[in-house]
Amino acid sequence: MNAYVLKGGHVYDPLNNIDGEKMDIYIAGGKIVEEPPKGAKVIDVSGKVVMPGGICIHSHIAGGKVNSGRMLRPEDHRRDNIPKKGQLRSGVGYTVPTTFVTGYRFAAMGYTTVFEPAVPPLKARHTHEEFQDTPILDHGGFVLTGNNWFVLNYVKNNEMDKLAAFIAWLLWATKCYAVKIVNPGGVESWGWGKNVNGLDDKVPYFDVTPREIVTALSYVNEKLGLPHTIHVHGNNLGQPGNYEITLETMEAVREIKASKGRRSVLHFTHIQFNAYAGTSWKDFASGAQEIANYVNKHDHVTIDIGQVIFGDATTMTADGPWEFALRQITRGNKWVNSDVELETGSGIVPYVFRRTVPVNAVQWAIGLELMLSVNDLYKVCLTTDHPNGGPFYFYPKIISWLVSRKARNEELEKVHKAAIEKTTLKDLDKEYNLYEVAIVTRAAQAKILGLKDRGHLGPGAKGDVAVYDIDPTKVNLSSSPELVEKAFSAAAYTFKDGEIVVKDGEVIATPQGSTIWVKVKKLEEMMPLIEEDLKEMWKHYTISLNNYPVQMEYLPKSEMVEV
Ligand SMILES: [Zn+2]
Repeated sequence: MNAYVLKGGHVYDPLNNIDGEKMDIYIAGGKIVEEPPKGAKVIDVSGKVVMPGGICIHSHIAGGKVNSGRMLRPEDHRRDNIPKKGQLRSGVGYTVPTTFVTGYRFAAMGYTTVFEPAVPPLKARHTHEEFQDTPILDHGGFVLTGNNWFVLNYVKNNEMDKLAAFIAWLLWATKCYAVKIVNPGGVESWGWGKNVNGLDDKVPYFDVTPREIVTALSYVNEKLGLPHTIHVHGNNLGQPGNYEITLETMEAVREIKASKGRRSVLHFTHIQFNAYAGTSWKDFASGAQEIANYVNKHDHVTIDIGQVIFGDATTMTADGPWEFALRQITRGNKWVNSDVELETGSGIVPYVFRRTVPVNAVQWAIGLELMLSVNDLYKVCLTTDHPNGGPFYFYPKIISWLVSRKARNEELEKVHKAAIEKTTLKDLDKEYNLYEVAIVTRAAQAKILGLKDRGHLGPGAKGDVAVYDIDPTKVNLSSSPELVEKAFSAAAYTFKDGEIVVKDGEVIATPQGSTIWVKVKKLEEMMPLIEEDLKEMWKHYTISLNNYPVQMEYLPKSEMVEV
């Protein structure tokens, strides 16, 4: 392993309160170290920005649904061909890139860890296969639970110990990192041609409500002491007026006690899609200020954005009924809708966000409103819900909007006037500095995920580092947003586990990343509680219980977090 001294860069490491200080960073043995290592290679990074490697809490990059999205969109690939180059594989974008291109493009932006937020348990093996095929990045999956028959039964019978045991077992069986909930109760209802629209609507047959599902899973999540909170895609996603159910969902878990080490008990994901006011598409408006107010007043919720990017997107989600609705809205666009036995559903619909469409203009503005209105940025993660709001490689564009009011206003002038009339974006004068950029792209993401070994540059942290070619003492971010976008698009260096993987925006090495997953220490003790139920329920599965858990062979580099 090589050792490095990154000399004289402007370091932004919010978790260690370092705000642009000119200092050296030392890397040895794959980690950040305290002292300059012997025989280290010295790299002059003066006049450049140094940050921890970027982290993305929510990008759909691997698994059955993503692969179906690739198959559904040949036209998407034709416009974005990436030929083979040196040791790099060929591949395609655009909205649903191949696994290799996904790894290359994230790394080129200085990102080193990415989470796939929707793993159907039954398809977990496929997700891990694609993780292995996605170079450079450390990765992990969130397992879908909010419509799982075991979960619904245990909630119905108020059997919280059994629910805890099942969640512990499921994380182990799928080798996943966190508990994901998508349209709680709604996806199961979709199996009956229905949906749930209110937090107290009943799920057919199971007779439980979204409120009961979310609170039970949040309670159990905290009881188990999992590193991340429940990760929630709310009910009524995409519907006018849905900010109310978003707030109700947050309020429902307010009294739940957080596990040691954090105050939050719920992460509301791609909240832009759940921050809508109005009563129909005609009076569609932003509910971002209501959401931001709530988040500002309460410490039990965190959010990521799901920022909209104008142009092509491929919507893909476990929210089957929403994808059906979107297919109707897009007047019968090609689509995929599928059921995963006993567990979840999913759907895919290609979509184009257009500047000229009032609803799309408002959606675009809402994401930025939220990022500019929440006071404590440790509650906020920058995401596009790739590829739902747009491709992840537009993060640098979003950063340029955050640091520059001028850049936002230029875009505002190009989009439908609804973005001015139905949102508060034009009045928001906050401009991010680089410290704040580092919070929403790495520090907050690590903290919210409960990852202690990354997202910062303190001794012992992973040697995951990004260097960007922009001099904060010379460049005015606000007036030069194009330079910010350029710098964040092509890292001068990306280090992964202490080795250079990107230089001058070009990928030069493609090591295998690690799979981060959670093992509950007391799992073996808890198993007798649910063993009979597993056997009984498994009569309904088309796969035998023995073939269900993902074997360790699927995780060539395993990073198990024990709790
Ligand atoms: Zn998503």
